[in-house]
Amino acid sequence: MPAHDFQPGREMSNEVDAKTARERAKAIAEQRRAERRNRKRKCVVCGVEESDKTPLTAHPEGIGPACKDEVTCQGRRASMGR
Ligand SMILES: [Zn+2]
Repeated sequence: MPAHDFQPGREMSNEVDAKTARERAKAIAEQRRAERRNRKRKCVVCGVEESDKTPLTAHPEGIGPACKDEVTCQGRRASMGR
């Protein structure tokens, strides 16, 4: 057991570190949530950005957001040549 391994007040600083790490993680999670809210989602089928005109909904196969209006979506995809 090396003598220099003992550091007074180490327990406390670890607690502070843990608290800081927790708060940092919380802040990052909060930031990611805000980014998700702000970032425009895109239809996974035709690639159109979500807007009032093109509302997105969950794709029935669970592959991501897709146009609520499937007919328009398919038409858009066809016109894109894909
Ligand atoms: Zn679409």
